[in-house]
Amino acid sequence: MLKILKNKKEQGCKTSKYPKETISLYKRYRGMPEIDAGCSQDIVERCAEICPQEAIDAQDKTIDLGRCTFCGSCETVEGGFVHFSRNFELGAANRRDLIVAGSLPALADHAKQHFKKLFGRSLQLRQVSAAGCNACEADTNVLNTPFFDLSRFGIDFVASPRHADGIHVTGPISHNMKQALFDTFEAVPSPKVVIASGACAISGGPFYGSTEVVGDLNSLIPVDLYIPGCPPHPLTTLHALLQFFK
Ligand code: SF4
Ligand code: SF4
Repeated sequence: MLKILKNKKEQGCKTSKYPKETISLYKRYRGMPEIDAGCSQDIVERCAEICPQEAIDAQDKTIDLGRCTFCGSCETVEGGFVHFSRNFELGAANRRDLIVAGSLPALADHAKQHFKKLFGRSLQLRQVSAAGCNACEADTNVLNTPFFDLSRFGIDFVASPRHADGIHVTGPISHNMKQALFDTFEAVPSPKVVIASGACAISGGPFYGSTEVVGDLNSLIPVDLYIPGCPPHPLTTLHALLQFFK
């Protein structure tokens, strides 16, 4: 016992003070894209051509965060159409809000109030990996480490969908996983929430267009919260969950 107390004193508290204190992410992190709307059409079209995800609309000069994998290719095109900031606040309640020209609108108020009332004090989620590459799943797991300590906010991932208030889906939803996803969703008692986490669950991500995947969770089950990224940074997920439910 004394050893444990001594160890605890030496280690101190490792839990982050976020959201009371802000966290600065490392330089190489790519978050919310800053877009130069005055950039010449030629440069924007070159960015759109180079984008492996077809996430850039050259006419509207927008980026679809639901498709973007934050690979950074467009940022390398000379002319400065896109610069990725370190702003990790990317979650949105509506799919169309992910098509950005530099910023996101506030999360839908009606959804916030509705879900805050229901799950503001306690939210239990069942994670469904629908053919993800495991990076989204691993970065979701990180939220349970002492640094993030997700459960201090009253949010937990649970083993059984019957004990859950909603599902948190990662991966592009292979046809093999479709029925399992439906079964899990059905097993969650109503009212329930559906969260699409990562480019794969939102749009198919790198598997976009493949005949082997559904690639758009919303086409199967109405999605309440979108969390972009490939994978989403744990802080992106944490921020979205707190904004939406707390
Ligand atoms: S960072 Fe996003 S928008 Fe830019 S090229 Fe990569 S996938 Fe396309
Ligand atoms: S969004 Fe990216 S990190 Fe997440 S499962 Fe798909 S490929 Fe993997």
